[in-house]
Amino acid sequence: MRQTKLFTKTRKEAPADEVAKNAQLLSRAGYIYKNMAGAYSFLPLGLKVIDKINTIVREEMDGIGGQEVHMPSLQESTLWQQSDRWDDEKVDVWFKTKLKAGGEVGLAWTHEEVITDIMRQYVSSYKDLPFFIYQIQTKFRNEMRAKSGIMRTREFWMKDLYSFCATEEQHAEFYEACASAYQRIFDRIGIGEKTYRTFASGGAFTKFSHEFQTLADAGEDIVYVSEQKGVAVNEEVLAEADLSELGVDKEDLVQKKSIEVGNIFSLGTKFSEAIGLYYKDSDGEQRPVIMGSYGIGPARAMGTVVDLLSDEKGIVWPESVAPFTVHLVGLNLDDAEVRDHSEGVYNALHDRGIEVLFDDRVEARPGEKFADSDLIGIPYRVVVSKKTKEEGKFEVVTRKSGEVRYLTEDELYADFGTQS
Ligand code: ATP
Ligand code: MG
Repeated sequence: MRQTKLFTKTRKEAPADEVAKNAQLLSRAGYIYKNMAGAYSFLPLGLKVIDKINTIVREEMDGIGGQEVHMPSLQESTLWQQSDRWDDEKVDVWFKTKLKAGGEVGLAWTHEEVITDIMRQYVSSYKDLPFFIYQIQTKFRNEMRAKSGIMRTREFWMKDLYSFCATEEQHAEFYEACASAYQRIFDRIGIGEKTYRTFASGGAFTKFSHEFQTLADAGEDIVYVSEQKGVAVNEEVLAEADLSELGVDKEDLVQKKSIEVGNIFSLGTKFSEAIGLYYKDSDGEQRPVIMGSYGIGPARAMGTVVDLLSDEKGIVWPESVAPFTVHLVGLNLDDAEVRDHSEGVYNALHDRGIEVLFDDRVEARPGEKFADSDLIGIPYRVVVSKKTKEEGKFEVVTRKSGEVRYLTEDELYADFGTQS
């Protein structure tokens, strides 16, 4: 991709009403555009990052047997009345609107009812179970506060998975598999070290459900954590549970701000009974299906990466989710020979399958180009200029560490060619 073809441009200042660091940096670097409070456009660079996060999420969900579907946002009242989640008094985040043809519809803020209803057509025997269904789909929620940039919006992507099991053992096995998959996802996108599987209240069969909480000052949540013992609990659990069961004392736990990047929840038979999803066990008895739900917010995860890993100069992407691997910064491009030389390097990187953003702007000054490059945060910056052409060595700067290396053209291609 050539920067001269990219319609977005960096800006010195973030929009004045933007208070969250993630949104300030992402807006300035041209990843996102704020359309209104709680609703953002994801521009070419931003969409690339979200796609990479979603690819990782898909790989891990497919890896534990997930099957991907896509369910509608538009919802009629009937189903949700069966579970008593239609009434605005009961659920205060609904967006609802009227149909021209008459009647009211809501925009789905979650999909337990919808998927359970679908399954009624496909499940009849214990032999049909277990299975695991997920989607990466848009949720709508009339959130009260929307001050955390892309981490809390009124329209957002959610990866939501629902498990359908015949027995508690099947359910427990999947629940643990999903928890491990979540940890792998957060490791792969670069926030694993600061992300704790946190004990939260609620959930059928066991005392706890689990939130995946990433320690961060920008967080809206509070957790109590022993970084040493690797244990975290939320406020309710701190107040209500016997902590010795979890191998910690109150004194071990330090209060920290955190971001809930995901959560997993045993639903028991709440929705299967409400909606009427039953199977026949091996004795021919009718039983309600045992369910679980498992959520991740890809944009909240993206905001968390920005919040955690950025520095005073801008964003620092881990390679796994960076929009490009290499930022090729061309200098002295008004010189026709340098121009040809830099085009050659760009094409060679590109032909080797290396994802490269080429700053091919002729007018921009070097300082401006470097500042933009730091702000955009691509993992490796390679400078191509009159000097590199004459000396045959390329300066390669690692964004994260600032490490500088000088590589020959062949070394350069070999270096990035071995990655990914
Ligand atoms: P919160 O307590 O932060 O409101 P929640 O408990 O309502 O979260 P869930 O309903 O479990 O969240 O949604 C699953 C995941 O979707 C969350 O863990 C989070 O990553 C993401 N998510 C939830 N609400 C939003 C939002 N308004 N904007 C962006 N992502 C969200
Ligand atoms: Mg919420």
